[in-house]
Amino acid sequence: AKAIGKNKYHYYTKSMREQALKRVTLISDMRNAIKNEEFFVLYQPIYDLKTGKITKAEALIRWQHPTHGVVSPYDFIPLAEETGLINEISDWVFEQVCKNICYWRQHYLPELQVCINTSPMQYVDTENGIATWLEHLRKSEISPQAIVLEITERLLMSADHTVSDILAQFRAAGVQVALDDFGTGYSSISYLQKFTTDIIKIDKSFVHSINDSKINRTLCEIIIMLGKKLNLQVVAEGIETSEQNEILQALQCDFAQGYLFSKPIEPEELTALLRDSS
Ligand code: C2E
Ligand code: CA
Ligand code: CA
Ligand code: CA
Repeated sequence: AKAIGKNKYHYYTKSMREQALKRVTLISDMRNAIKNEEFFVLYQPIYDLKTGKITKAEALIRWQHPTHGVVSPYDFIPLAEETGLINEISDWVFEQVCKNICYWRQHYLPELQVCINTSPMQYVDTENGIATWLEHLRKSEISPQAIVLEITERLLMSADHTVSDILAQFRAAGVQVALDDFGTGYSSISYLQKFTTDIIKIDKSFVHSINDSKINRTLCEIIIMLGKKLNLQVVAEGIETSEQNEILQALQCDFAQGYLFSKPIEPEELTALLRDSS
C-alpha cells in the first residue's frame, strides 16, 4: 500500500479490516452452525451415459446462514479447513449421507453410490479423522460399496504413508475413491501412480471448453482413454449443454453430472427421481 494517495490507503485498510471482520464473524458463526442445524446437504445425480439412468449422486453441503442467506461452500469450506472445523462438518455430512443412502438403497436403487467430498485435513487426524468413518461403516448396516470418497490433488501435497494407508483401508473394505477435478493441478498423472483410485472426474473447466477447440476436445478424449486403459470409471462434471453431452457420449465417457441433467437437489427430490425411474 505504499505510494498511494492518503484516501486510497484508507480505503484499502478499511476494506481489509472489513474483510478480516467478516472472516472472524463467519468463523464464529460456523462454530454454532451444526448445533443450530443451519447446514444441509444437497445431492446432484450422476447418470450412466449408456443407460441414461442415475447410478450415483454427489453430496454437496450448503449453509443457511441466519442473516447472510445461503453461503456457498466455496466461501466457508476453506475457512473450515483453516480452523480445523472441517472434521466436525465432514462428520456431519457423512452422517446425513448414511441416513439417506440407507433409505434410497433399500427402497429404490440397491446399487446407488453417494460421493462425498473430503479434505486433506481429515486424513491427518488419525484419531478423530476420516478413519472413524470406516469404524462407523463396519458397525452399521450400510454397505461400504455405497460410499465413494472424493479426493483432490491437494492430498498428494500432504502425502505421506498415513494418507495412502487410510485410502487403502477404505478400498479394502469396498469403499471407492474418486479423484476430483482431474487435470487441473500440476500432478494429476503422478497422482494416479501414487494412489490407487477407482474413478476420475474430469474437471468442469475441460467440459465447458470441449466445443471451443480441437485441443480441448482432444484433452477430454485423452483423459477418457487414460481412464479406460487404467480400468477406471470416468465421470464428466459440469455438463451444461446437449452439445457437450453429445461430444462426451461420442468419446465414450462413462458417467455425466451437470446442470443439463440436474442441479444439486434436496434429498426428497432425489427420492422422487429415483421413484420415477424405478
Ligand atoms: P466440487 O467438488 O468440484 O463440486 C462440483 C461443483 O460444481 C458444485 O458446486 C456443483 O454444484 C457445481 N456444478 C455442478 N454441475 C455444474 C454445472 O453444470 N455447471 C457449473 N458451473 N457448476 C456445476 P458447489 O456445490 O457450490 O460446491 C463447491 C465446492 O465446495 C465443491 O466443488 C467442493 O470442493 C466443495 N464442497 C461442497 N460440499 C463439500 C463437503 O461436504 N465437504 C467438502 N470438504 N467440500 C465440499
Ligand atoms: Ca467433488
Ligand atoms: Ca457394514
Ligand atoms: Ca469437481
